[in-house]
Amino acid sequence: MVMHVIDTHCDILSRMLADPTISFAIESTGADVCLPRLRQGGLRLQFFALYLSERFADAGMGPILEMIDLYRERVLASGEVVPVRTVKEAEESWASGKIAGVLSLEGAEGLQGNLVNLRTLFQLGVRFLGLTWNHANWAADGVMEPRQGGFTVAGKRLIAECDRLGIILDVSHLSDNGFWQLAELSNRPFIASHSNSRSICNHPRNLTDEQIQMIVQRNGCISLTFVPWFIREKTPVITDILRHLDRFCALGAVDHIGFGSDFDGFDKKLPGLTNPSDYPAFGELLLKHFSEREVEGFFSRNWHSFLLNNLPVD
Ligand SMILES: [Zn+2]
Repeated sequence: MVMHVIDTHCDILSRMLADPTISFAIESTGADVCLPRLRQGGLRLQFFALYLSERFADAGMGPILEMIDLYRERVLASGEVVPVRTVKEAEESWASGKIAGVLSLEGAEGLQGNLVNLRTLFQLGVRFLGLTWNHANWAADGVMEPRQGGFTVAGKRLIAECDRLGIILDVSHLSDNGFWQLAELSNRPFIASHSNSRSICNHPRNLTDEQIQMIVQRNGCISLTFVPWFIREKTPVITDILRHLDRFCALGAVDHIGFGSDFDGFDKKLPGLTNPSDYPAFGELLLKHFSEREVEGFFSRNWHSFLLNNLPVD
């Protein structure tokens, strides 16, 4: 049985930007995500991150627009992926059997403090914003910034404008101070697109129990990620993900859990979770430990209902 899957983070657009020979339509060496593997994996909705590698961090909107162009010219042009920007499009794509594509910006760096850029990206279909990558930017501090600051004045304006437009905020790389300031400054649901449990694997990219409970309280969603060093410090294996899932469930998150693989965002893979085609076997593993209803929730239902509740209507 192949279950439907929603995956809330992959970096294939950034890979294609760095290497123009990488294809979406067929498997290429050097990339994890491609149409055949999404099909084999049962993917019904894939988030496509607009991530500026450090090489492009100061390059502004240019590389972001290039990645949106790659999304349109390669991913959507395949005819098998349809853009989802609204509840109406989410419902239509779910009924059509095609794969839905959602654009998310990872890190506010490229906006360069100008909300015109944010509004333009909204017009181009961007619906999620990860406020930072690992370091500080003009809006806020990321998890690896030693001073661990929160939001700047301009960053607070960014939150307000995202709330007004209906861009959903993603805390996956945000500093702890930034996380708690965001919880104060916005009363909309927010999400973590690719983070695990810090009490199971003590890495700053993972969420504390209190953070997980706050996202649940806000009716947000949290996607666990397959990056090995966020799963276990030493020699992680696929079953270690179960410990994270158990922890999330113990904190009341069973209806708020999803997966954000981060495929194409890291190289050394967890054995058994190397690209999207591994989802069905992973589902079989989960079914040995969780009920079918729970696994369907983790794989798609939790995120599907979140999107229907939080995307713009039409
Ligand atoms: Zn990331």
